[in-house]
Amino acid sequence: MAVCARLCGVGAARGCRRRQQRRGPAETAAADSEPDTDPEEELIEAGAAGLSAGPAPPPRLSLLELPPELLVEIFASLPGTDLSSLARVCTRFRRILHTDTIWRRRCREEYGVCEDARGLEVAGVSCRDVYAKLLHRYRHILGLWQPDIGPYGGLLNVVVDGLFIVGWMYLPPHDPHVDDPMRFKPLFRIHLMERKAATVECMYGHRGPHSGHIQIMKKDEFSTKCSQTDHHRMPGGRQEEFRTWLREEWGRTLEDIFHEHMQELILMKFIYTSQYDNCLTYRRIYLPPSRPDDLIPPGLFKGTYGSHGLELVMLSFHGGRALGTKVTGDPNIPAGQQTVEVDLAHRIQLPDVEQQRSFSELSRLVQGVQEQLRQQGAPAAAQSPHQPMEPPAKDPVEPGGAAAPSSQAQPFVLPVGVSSRKEDYPRSYRACFYGTGLIAGHGFTSPEHTPGVFVLFDDDRFGFIWLELKSFSLYSRVRVAFRHAEAPSPQAFEDMLKNIQSLTS
Ligand SMILES: [Zn+2]
Repeated sequence: MAVCARLCGVGAARGCRRRQQRRGPAETAAADSEPDTDPEEELIEAGAAGLSAGPAPPPRLSLLELPPELLVEIFASLPGTDLSSLARVCTRFRRILHTDTIWRRRCREEYGVCEDARGLEVAGVSCRDVYAKLLHRYRHILGLWQPDIGPYGGLLNVVVDGLFIVGWMYLPPHDPHVDDPMRFKPLFRIHLMERKAATVECMYGHRGPHSGHIQIMKKDEFSTKCSQTDHHRMPGGRQEEFRTWLREEWGRTLEDIFHEHMQELILMKFIYTSQYDNCLTYRRIYLPPSRPDDLIPPGLFKGTYGSHGLELVMLSFHGGRALGTKVTGDPNIPAGQQTVEVDLAHRIQLPDVEQQRSFSELSRLVQGVQEQLRQQGAPAAAQSPHQPMEPPAKDPVEPGGAAAPSSQAQPFVLPVGVSSRKEDYPRSYRACFYGTGLIAGHGFTSPEHTPGVFVLFDDDRFGFIWLELKSFSLYSRVRVAFRHAEAPSPQAFEDMLKNIQSLTS
């Protein structure tokens, strides 16, 4: 607004009257961006300055003297949230702000909406409506979210899609195919019905969109409610619902799953998660910020978790450590917990491929690192994962540099007796590090950090050998370009990790 007052100057004061009574749609949309100063006061001050004694002031250029097409150009380049204040300056500004090209540009630049004019005409809405009633109104729910479904968690990306805001639920591929792409389905959508307020629709179930509701509770938290849960029901009742869920979630029938413990876990998940089909709360998560000295680009990975199936894990780097945080979880280790922690300062050099088959040889190597850590008096497992960042490891135990492992691939084979859900795991690795993996009883009872080996295969795949469990998890990068998912600052990311962990511990 200061810009406007300066440009209006004395000459413009006659045309500028602050509108107080009527509020335009943009104002209601941007009510939280009230300027600190009263534009009228600024105008008076500017006028007083012009009347004061002293050398003649330089000729002032009035913004109002500019041709309307130039004003449209100027206004279109301002943030949409500032336009409401502009509309209150004077009737002329207000009139010019009705120009839809201004709002089209704001929609495009701020939200990436590239709807053509015809599409809007067909829908019977203006860009100003789209901006104010849809995009601006629901801007706080755009981004990456974790649903609060007990230990199971999940991943939701709310994005602008044409003239809709859509909440996409992302699911890992079917177990154990970690390299397959992510699956996704819409959980809700918001759109403008002609010029009315935006409508929220629940997309759950197989009977198409139906009435729903969204509540933005506080910063970084919102909830969805379904108003017609009968749309989620199937004619065949719970049996049919379970069979359909199983087919979608696991890609198979219960008879195909011979493992009794796995059958139990699957049934438990169905019963537990279906309680949440009418109401869900989401908490914001961010993708990990990346730094040039990271071992590999951080991000989301799909990993094998034995009978629990595939789970989503977020890999992030914290100085000399890498953390794997669960985005989805299970009744043993819930979502939000740190499943693996890697000590990047302690590299493990595996023996030649024949010796790698010996489990006792691998145990001996890991015990060697544990002994070193004991002597240093700082066992990695006992460290809090949220201590201030340590500098990256400059003096690795092994020659060659821990933070910059040799890119030369070496042959890899799992020790005999270590089970892997996926038999065709990578047969060459780039580097191995000492790490700990979190294990616990059902219900996250007696959690314990147990020793293991982090195996880096390439930029998009890593593994973890759980020594005590004698099992191997394989992780493969999630290749989805999630939108609105960047953390505003490294600290915001750290806070988010701490927050989601504390909710389930
Ligand atoms: Zn519904």
